[in-house]
Amino acid sequence: VSSGAARLPVAVLGAAGRMGERLCALIGESADLTLAGALVRPGSALAGRPLGAQEGPVATDRIEAALAAARVAIDFTPAGATLAHARACSEAGVALLVGTTGLGAAEQAAIEVAARCIPVLCAANTSLGVHVLAELVRRAAELLPADFDIEILDIHHRAKRDAPSGTAYLLGEAAAAGRGVTHDGAAVTGRTGLAGPREAGSIGYAALRGGDVVGEHSVYFAGTGERLTLSHAATDRTVFAAGALRAARFLARQGPGLYTMADVIRG
Ligand code: NAD
Repeated sequence: VSSGAARLPVAVLGAAGRMGERLCALIGESADLTLAGALVRPGSALAGRPLGAQEGPVATDRIEAALAAARVAIDFTPAGATLAHARACSEAGVALLVGTTGLGAAEQAAIEVAARCIPVLCAANTSLGVHVLAELVRRAAELLPADFDIEILDIHHRAKRDAPSGTAYLLGEAAAAGRGVTHDGAAVTGRTGLAGPREAGSIGYAALRGGDVVGEHSVYFAGTGERLTLSHAATDRTVFAAGALRAARFLARQGPGLYTMADVIRG
């Protein structure tokens, strides 16, 4: 137990999931954080019970109860739940880190509205390495001529719901920024059948799903006679959880607004 200094109370939304479990465990081991709320899916049999062997709050399926004692909430749930979570955090005045991927336009809008009242950070990937990779991708796209075709591959475990991954899009956006083009106009996903020759200047995506792969991303710059590949592999979800906690500590020190992992890494 830290001497004197108050611990930062954190709520984990999606506490029983793969990421949620890892977050609760790391919070339990940390010297400066405390688990102040644990939200599980509505109707879950876990609601009303302590989570695992952890000391701390019982799990709840009511977002207001999960947020009541928290200063920062960390959301790793399926995309559909994030809209309500953003509204509830805004009403409760609790900062929000959204790690959930596959967000739709309505969720993005709710996050932007919430950011007027609370600090919010939305990160498809909370590992340090991926943000360094994004910076390298941006630079490579800037340096290489436009006839180097950009293709992005992501590999994830069999239970992942969204494809391509949020991180693949983050890397595609970095490539588009480096090239000075708009990402959404260039992105091509889900090629199949007689897709025809590749359109010049496009950014192509492909997704593999299987087994227990935590997350791997490769960005190919395919020219004529040479090819540059930049890759990152996460081998343990703990890197995402540790990055999320670093972001939570950062958010607790900020005023209302929308922040990025780049802001966290810069401190
Ligand atoms: P998961 O399916 O293991 O966990 C999600 C949990 O949320 C489940 O326990 C589910 O029951 C629960 N849930 C469903 N609806 C809920 C609700 N309304 N309220 C509270 N809980 C609810 O998934 P996961 O592998 O932990 O991933 C969760 C999300 O995080 C996905 O979108 C994934 O892509 C994303 N992710 C992001 C990063 C990152 O670095 N940002 C890393 C890994 C995963």
